[in-house]
Amino acid sequence: MVIGYFIKTMIPHYPLFINGEFKETSKKQDVINPSTGEVIATVSIAEAGEIDYAIKSARDAIDCGPWRNFTLAERKDFILKISQGILDRAAELASLESLNAGKPIKETTFMDIPSAAATFDYFANNLEKYLAKENVEINSSIASAQSNLVREPQGVVVLIVPWNYPLLIASWKLAQALAAGNAIILKPSSLTPLSVLELAKIIKEAGLPAGAVNIINASGDTMGEALCSDSRVDMISFTGSNAVGRKILEYTSKNVKKVTMELGGKSAAIVLKDADLESAVNGLLCAIFLNQGQMCTAMSRILVEESIYDDFVNDFVAKAKRIKLGPALNFETQMGPLMSEAQRKKVLEYVGKGKTEGGRLLCGGGIPQQEEFKKGFFFEPTVFGDASPKMKIFKEEIFGPVACISKFSSIEEAAALANDCVFGLAASVWSKDGSKAKNLAKVINAGTVWVNTYGMFFNELPYGGFKQSGFGKELGKEGLLEYTRLKNIVTDKTEGSKPLVNYWYGF
Ligand code: NAD
Repeated sequence: MVIGYFIKTMIPHYPLFINGEFKETSKKQDVINPSTGEVIATVSIAEAGEIDYAIKSARDAIDCGPWRNFTLAERKDFILKISQGILDRAAELASLESLNAGKPIKETTFMDIPSAAATFDYFANNLEKYLAKENVEINSSIASAQSNLVREPQGVVVLIVPWNYPLLIASWKLAQALAAGNAIILKPSSLTPLSVLELAKIIKEAGLPAGAVNIINASGDTMGEALCSDSRVDMISFTGSNAVGRKILEYTSKNVKKVTMELGGKSAAIVLKDADLESAVNGLLCAIFLNQGQMCTAMSRILVEESIYDDFVNDFVAKAKRIKLGPALNFETQMGPLMSEAQRKKVLEYVGKGKTEGGRLLCGGGIPQQEEFKKGFFFEPTVFGDASPKMKIFKEEIFGPVACISKFSSIEEAAALANDCVFGLAASVWSKDGSKAKNLAKVINAGTVWVNTYGMFFNELPYGGFKQSGFGKELGKEGLLEYTRLKNIVTDKTEGSKPLVNYWYGF
């Protein structure tokens, strides 16, 4: 059991995973428990030599290793073993994820870990269907031909993931990239590498050929460019902030390659006067305070129709005050700590800006003062009323437990407010009138719009943002196909095998 393991005085150490082996490095780094600020593990850190070795291993796996010749059925078997390996160790992984990322254990137990296993299971069971080759017959007045459209892996794919859903987002990317047959280099956030390094053990036990999956911790600042600009890498799949996304686009422009970007958000919830108020309040509490608000799709802008504004705000604030803060490993905890001191400082600064810009602070806004919260990076659930589009707290991604509530008087105004944003990741509409809600959903500039709910992600459905929230999809058939390249093999079928082009010069 991981908990028992950590109670021991010896702090565990996690090496890198390259070419099918665990590899030590000279550079190490501490990993912190955000609930207590204490060191819980050390990890190896890759420098230039290890980055080069990981790229070479992945390249060899895809160019000349056994992995490239695996049948789809063999790929499926390996991916199913990974899914089962996660389920076999679900409780242990949930504890580890909570310990490292500060996510309440109820969330990691019921969401993160089972969802990670389910994603491997889904893509294993659907890869043959989604990757099936297509045959197209062409019969024009000039020529007849048959085309085989073949889905090939991109090649060497670098997966870069953030700290807010460490195992889950890594599993989304890994499951799809493996199902498509790529060789992979996965880089977790250096704040939250532990669950992914445990996953490396599961991958090794599943018996994947050496180099098919490599997992490296590395500082993005110093090693990101070497990893992303290398000409031996065919694709980068990135999830993280807009600022780092832009840097990666610069690196990859040096050697043109496929890139997908899942970036930040400032999602809007629109609550119409005919909404089920209790359901909307409860759903939106979850939509902004789950995972301490550290969600790319957090509904941080809540737009409420004027006539129900006061009722909504009163209920929302009363319930926000009742959310139970505590250490992530406690099953009673509803809100854990923020990820780091730096993240808490950023949230605190935004609250300060909100106050000076005229936002009405309705609850929270600070660091809880009780003794039990002294060591960790805790922050109170915070609600601003009368937020306006001019305020920074309303425009910029805070990535913390800060809800900004604003009112509107017409549906047109609500849509304009929702769309007045550089991001376009997600939105939600709350109304009992299905057609009104769907019409509003159509005009909202966001990749996902939830109606009367929040955060429903399905392995079957593509997910991804518009505008500054990025491009490309994760999950669903469209997500899997991002990790493939489409080859068109065209065979002449002209009667007598004498197409016009072969006789163009009359010879
Ligand atoms: P981040 O951009 O700081 O880091 C993300 C990853 O990039 C980490 O692994 C980090 O080490 C790496 N990195 C940092 N600098 C790099 C560089 N120069 N080159 C290459 N890699 C580099 O993001 P974060 O703070 O870990 O996560 C929070 C952000 O992620 C928020 O903006 C959030 O909205 C976004 N996010 C988006 C989605 C989505 O699906 N759209 C999901 C989760 C999080």
